[in-house]
Amino acid sequence: MSGTVVVLLGPPGSGKGTQAKRLVEVLGTPHVSSGDLFRHHLSQETELGLMAHSYMEDGELVPDDVTVEMVVERISRPDCEDGVLLDGFPRTLNQAEALKKALANRGHQVTVVPLIQVSDDEVLRRLTARRVCEACGAVYNLVFNPPQEEGVCDVCGGDLYQREDDDPETVNHRLYTYYKETSPLIGYYFAQDLLVEIDGEQSFKAVSEDLLRAIGEAAKES
Ligand code: AMP
Repeated sequence: MSGTVVVLLGPPGSGKGTQAKRLVEVLGTPHVSSGDLFRHHLSQETELGLMAHSYMEDGELVPDDVTVEMVVERISRPDCEDGVLLDGFPRTLNQAEALKKALANRGHQVTVVPLIQVSDDEVLRRLTARRVCEACGAVYNLVFNPPQEEGVCDVCGGDLYQREDDDPETVNHRLYTYYKETSPLIGYYFAQDLLVEIDGEQSFKAVSEDLLRAIGEAAKES
């Protein structure tokens, strides 16, 4: 891996996944989302997927050892040699240390950590109204970005569903988990001068622009 390693940080519902899809179109690096990897394993009913499911449905984190192994295997593949955009990983200090070691083994390091800031009320509003296309993964929001026809994807006509961990009770628990387990990463990356705060309550376009600017400036300096 010789290029830019971006770690997108932010609470659930801050728009990391949606922004990541846009960013990789511009950056040309793979988008590695630990949540998507777990959901893929679950759809294939692998042992890992079935194990992870019990944590995911409760809004808990999957244990560090299996999460690290899965993500490190993914970012060790040749398509990540020129850089990668990580979304949802690391989520604990242990995972951050494991990532640092895995990158250092190849002589690399994290380039920048944009932190997408969104208030708790906004997270609840966004996630409980989120719908995802079963077929192509397109993401909608019933409040600000509804599909033209209820329950049907504008892009491919697939059926829309609500992620089981987007119900209000689980969203609250995911937020609690974020503050307890993941927010220490803010201090961890701040101390390494890698953190850049982004206002996640602006328009999608303004957030994308801020992210691209932060990544571009960090890549130039590194
Ligand atoms: P996400 O799509 O990133 O919101 O992730 C969905 C769920 O997958 C989380 O609520 C966790 O249960 C699990 N998960 C995703 N990434 C991680 C991670 N880095 N560490 C532990 N669990 C994770």
